[in-house]
Amino acid sequence: SVKEKEDAKIEGAVQIAIGVKKEVDFAAWYTNVNTCIPSLLDFVLILDQVLIKADMLDYYNVSGCYILKPWSYSIWEEIQDWFNKNIKAMGVQNSYFPMFVSSKVLEREKDHIEGFSPEVAWVTRAGNSDLEEPIAIRPTSETVMYPYYAKWIKSHRDLPLKLNQWNSVVRWEFKNPQPFLRTREFLWQEGHTAHLTQAEAATEVREILELYRRVYEELLAVPVIPGIKSEKEKFAGGLYTTTVEGFIPTSGRGIQAATSHCLGQNFSRPEMFNIVVEDPNDPSGQGKTYVWQNSWGLSTRTIGVMTMVHGDNQGLVLPPRVACVQAVVVPCGITAKTTDEDRAKINNACDELAKVLIKAGVKAKADLRDGYTPGYKFNDWEQKGVPLRLEIGPNDIAKQQTLAVRRDNGEKSPVPLADIGVTVSSLLETIQSDMFSRAQKEYFSRLKEITRWEDVVPTLDDKCIAVLPWCEVEACEDDIKERSGRAAEPQDERAPSAGAKSLAIPFDQSRWTPIEPGKTKCPACNRDAKRWTMFGRSY
Ligand code: AMP
Repeated sequence: SVKEKEDAKIEGAVQIAIGVKKEVDFAAWYTNVNTCIPSLLDFVLILDQVLIKADMLDYYNVSGCYILKPWSYSIWEEIQDWFNKNIKAMGVQNSYFPMFVSSKVLEREKDHIEGFSPEVAWVTRAGNSDLEEPIAIRPTSETVMYPYYAKWIKSHRDLPLKLNQWNSVVRWEFKNPQPFLRTREFLWQEGHTAHLTQAEAATEVREILELYRRVYEELLAVPVIPGIKSEKEKFAGGLYTTTVEGFIPTSGRGIQAATSHCLGQNFSRPEMFNIVVEDPNDPSGQGKTYVWQNSWGLSTRTIGVMTMVHGDNQGLVLPPRVACVQAVVVPCGITAKTTDEDRAKINNACDELAKVLIKAGVKAKADLRDGYTPGYKFNDWEQKGVPLRLEIGPNDIAKQQTLAVRRDNGEKSPVPLADIGVTVSSLLETIQSDMFSRAQKEYFSRLKEITRWEDVVPTLDDKCIAVLPWCEVEACEDDIKERSGRAAEPQDERAPSAGAKSLAIPFDQSRWTPIEPGKTKCPACNRDAKRWTMFGRSY
C-alpha cells in the first residue's frame, strides 16, 4: 500500500516483502521483470523474490545488467576452480585478450557477423569527440583472437594451440533480459583451440562438452542432455555445435546450458584469418593445411539454471558442492531465563562444532549473532539455501548430539557429535546426489516420445518436451516453430516465445523406439525421419 511504501521510505528500507509462490507465478518468483528498474536516486521498490531473498544479486540501472553479490559469485568461483583444473589437465592455458574489436576484423566472417551483428554494442565517442571509426565490444572473441593465431601458428609444431579466457562479453539482447540466464553483459569462459586434424578437433569438442555436463550434473546437481544442435541453431560461422541442454520443469522450457563448437576450417581459410601450416603428412612436403578450430563457452547462466531447478518457496536450495556455507550451526533453546553461563556454554558448543567441521573439510559456520531468534536465523539460512542446518540446545549438549536439518527435503535427524566430521560430510554427499536424482527423474519424465503432429502442442502446453523423429530439414524447423506458436495457449506476456524450436539431437538415441530408415516419418512434414530430436519452448 501507499502507506507501507511511505513507511519504508521513512525508514530508508528498500525491500518490501510480497510472497510469490514458485508454482503460481514462476516469473515473479525468480525475478521482477516489470517492477525492478531502480534508479539510483529514487526510492527503490524491490519485490520479494528468490534472488533478492538469497542475497545473490542486485538490480542495476542499466537494463539487462545485474550485480552478482558474493553469495552467487562464490558459486562462479567454485565452477572456475573445477573447470580450470580440468582444462589445464588437457593442456589448455589461460590468457587475456582486449574487449574491443575493430569493425574491419569483426566483420571478416560473413555468417559469424550476420549472427551477432544485431547484438553488438559499439563505442562511438571518447569524451567529447567522435571516434574516427566505431569500435565494437566483443560479443565473443573469435575475431579478436584469430588474427593472432595466424601470427603465432607458423608450423604444425605450434599445434595444438589451446587458449582459454575468463572474461565478460556484451550482447545487447532485445529479448526479455533475465538475471543470469540472459543478460547483456555476462561472465563466461571462452576456450579457443587450433588443431592439425579434424579428428583431433572433434575429440576435443566432446571432451569439453563432457566437462560441461559434469559442471552441471556433478557440481550443480542439474541434469542435462548432451547432443548436437540443428543447422538452424548452430553457432554462427561454425561447422557444428554440441550442447548440453537443460530443462526448467516449472516453466516447461528448455535452456541451452553450455555449448562446444567445432568451427571447422571456416575461420582459418585464406579469405578469413589464414591460419595455415605445412602439412606434415603430405608426402610431397609441399602441401599446406588450414587448421581445425574449436570454441567453447560456459557462462553465469549456470547459476540461474541451478536456482530455477532447485529453488523452492522458502528460497534458494544450494547443492553442497557449490555452497560457500555447507552447514550452519545455530544455537537453540536460549530463553530469557537462560543464565549467562548456560548461554556461553551453548554458544561455545556451536563454535566448537563449526571448528571441528571446518577441520574435517566442511564449509561450516556458527551463527552466533546476538539479538536474533533461532527462528529468524533458520529462515535467513533457508532463504540463502544452505544445505544443512545443525541445531544445538541444552538437551543436545547433554546428549552430545546435534539436530541436523536438511534444506533440500526438510528431513530432521539427531546426529551424535562423535565422528561428526565424517557423518556431516557423507550427509552432504547424500544431499548432493538426492538433489540430482530428483531433478533428473523430473527431467526424464517430461521427455515425451511424439509421433503425431496433433500431440505436439498439447505436450508443450503440458510443460513437456516433444521428442520427435525428425527429418532435420531447416524449413521444417521453421514450420514447426510457426505452427506450434500459433496453436499454443495464450502465454504470460513476460514469457518468451510460444513456438517450439529444436533444442538438441541427443547423442544417446537409445531412450526412444529405433527409427526405421525410409519408414519412420517426421510428424511435422512426413519426410523420412533421421534422428530423435528434442523440440520445446525455450529461454
Ligand atoms: P555461444 O558461444 O554463443 O554458444 O555461448 C556460449 C554459452 O553462453 C551458451 O551456451 C549459453 O549457455 C551462454 N549464453 C549465451 N548468451 C547468454 C546471455 N545473454 N547471458 C548469459 N549466458 C549466455
